[in-house]
This record gives sequence, C-alpha cells and structure tokens, in this order.
Amino acid sequence: GWRWPVSSEVGLEVRDVTVRYGSLTAVDQASIDVDPGAIVALLGPSGCGKSTLLRAIAGLEPLAGGSISWMGSDLTGVPVHRRHVGLMFQDHALFPHRNVADNVAFGLRMEGRPRAARRRRVEELLDLFGLVELGSRTIGTLSGGQAQRVALARALAPEPSLLLLDEPLGSLDRALRDRLVHEIREAIRELGITALHVTHDHDEAVTVADALALMRDGRIHRVGPVAALLDDPGDARTAEALGIDTVWRPPQRPDGTLVTPFGAVSPAVGGGAGPYLLLRPRSVQLADDGQAATVDRCRYRGGVWLVTCELVDHRLAIVAAHHERLGEGTAVRVRADLTQATRLEP
Ligand code: ADP
Repeated sequence: GWRWPVSSEVGLEVRDVTVRYGSLTAVDQASIDVDPGAIVALLGPSGCGKSTLLRAIAGLEPLAGGSISWMGSDLTGVPVHRRHVGLMFQDHALFPHRNVADNVAFGLRMEGRPRAARRRRVEELLDLFGLVELGSRTIGTLSGGQAQRVALARALAPEPSLLLLDEPLGSLDRALRDRLVHEIREAIRELGITALHVTHDHDEAVTVADALALMRDGRIHRVGPVAALLDDPGDARTAEALGIDTVWRPPQRPDGTLVTPFGAVSPAVGGGAGPYLLLRPRSVQLADDGQAATVDRCRYRGGVWLVTCELVDHRLAIVAAHHERLGEGTAVRVRADLTQATRLEP
C-alpha cells in the first residue's frame, strides 16, 4: 500500500475503492492513506475520478468495491452527517440571502448545538478568517474571495476531523487563488486537521499539500511527499503531471547514451536508462561561453524568471533561471550542468 510516515497512526485509509456510474468505472481500485494532520492533494486531469473519490469518502457515493476507514473504524454504512467530514466545493453552495454568520453557523445548527455555544464558535471562525466585519453582510454582497473564506469557515465550524476540498478555488482568478491557497493551508495547519484537497492545478497542489496523490484513469498511480516527487518524479508522465517542464527527449545512441549539445549522458550518470532527461532550472545558466539559443518565453516563478529558450540548430527547448525578464527572440547563450540531470522513463 501507499504510505508516507508523518505519524505511526493512519487517519484515512482508502483501500481498492471502486465507484461505478452504470457501465462507467469512474474510480478503479484506488488506494491511499492519509496520516492524521497531513494535507494531501489529489491531483489529476479533469475527468480522472478525483471528485468521485472525494464524494465516496464523504459518503455521497456508494462503493462498488473496496473500503474506507477513518482512525481504524470502517465507514461503510456510516451516513454523511455522522462521518465528521467538512466539505468545501467549488460552487460553495452558501445560502445567498442569509448573512455570513448564519452561513457559518449552518453545520452547528444541524448538529443541534446550543445557541450560546454556536455564537462562540461562529465568532472564533469569523476571527480566524478575518471576517468579523462582514458577519452581518448577506452572501450576495461579498466578493468571490470573501465568499470562499465564508465557505471554508462554514466547513470548519463543526470541527470536522477530516476536511475534503473539491477544487475550492476553481472559479477564482489566479492572483486570488495564490493568496487563498496559502490561507487554506495555514488554517488547516493551525487547526491540526487532516485534509484531502482535490485539484487539477499542479501549482495549487504543490502549494497547499504536504504530499501528493496523482490520479489517472480512476487510479492513484503515484503518492509521495511534495518535495521528493518534485525532486525525483521518476517518469516523464509524472513530471508532466507535476508541471515540471524541463524534461527533454534528446537523441540516443545504441549504447543508451543521450546526446545533447552540452555533452553526453550515459545511463550510469543519470541514475537510470530512461530516454528522457530532467534538467533542473538551477543547473541551467545563461552564460557567454554557452550554446547559442533564442528566448521563446519568460515566466516569473518562485522569485526568478524562468526563461524558455530554443537552442539554435538543435530544435531543443531548455529552461534557465534568470534574474530578469528577457524579451521573446532575444539571442542568448546557455550552459547546462549535466551532472545534475536525471534520466526518466516515459
Ligand atoms: P474529476 O473530478 O477528476 O474531474 P469526476 O470524478 O468528476 O472527475 O468524473 C469521473 C468520471 O465519472 C467522468 O467520466 C465523469 O463524466 C463521470 N461522472 C461523474 N459523476 C457522474 C454522475 N453523477 N453520473 C455519471 N457519470 C459521472
């Protein structure tokens, strides 16, 4: 099974879960463990079965096979409202004509908590999410980001032990997503709860989670800590799923050596014999004594500009980290340190 040690206990255990819609198998024997207090992102392309798996964990879809347990107890037959899960969806389903405080109190009312306890808990959450001033505003008057915070506060109000988020930032613009994804992570961390976060966006997954579960065609095919997967994705498809775009397929000699303008990489050097080469941007530099190249595009990421350039005469794209933006078509020279390259299987 898939495990990564955060603590000795397993919180959520999903074993060979299958979910069918008629003849369509949406989730196909998916297995994953999430340790208590860990935040795991379930990442995969649209339609691969992420939402269905999340809904099955919440108790909203019957299983055609497999089992789901929480802290050692089987959840089969346990109704949604008794699973102690908090749910947050993209169409956050807030009550538009009620105010913020009423929306946050919703789950607490459903549980039948006394009025005074309810009021205290709502105040705590409004405070945690910077919503105190907005408590009496109706949902319809809020911005997208504010509404998203209310939805998160509502999901967390009944103190769920497991939080399930399904593309919670899906409808928001990039800048707002980047900010909210940090807020979500901090809130989950501060409360110490376990979370499974579904997204098709690799940047969001990498930012929010401690570990990633990569899903494809209804199955979970890779699980691991974020840093370890980014450092060693293992195969080119996984690298692509993680948004790593510094992978090439250079010409290969019969003895398995990959031939690049920066030198040759024998199977022994790159730690494998795969036909793809993963070059980290930090090992690629713009330098006067390098190979001639032309800038194709430039993106700002993690404090540096990632310059994608096309090597002259080689029809090969390479990405270098640089301290400033360079315009498209700029002539540059590139040097790459192949001792830091990793060979990947397809
Ligand atoms: P994802 O969340 O990764 O985008 P979904 O879990 O929503 O994927 O969908 C997985 C597959 O199941 C898709 O082919 C989708 O069309 C199908 N599906 C999802 N929900 C239903 C449903 N209620 N009825 C029939 N098919 C569904």
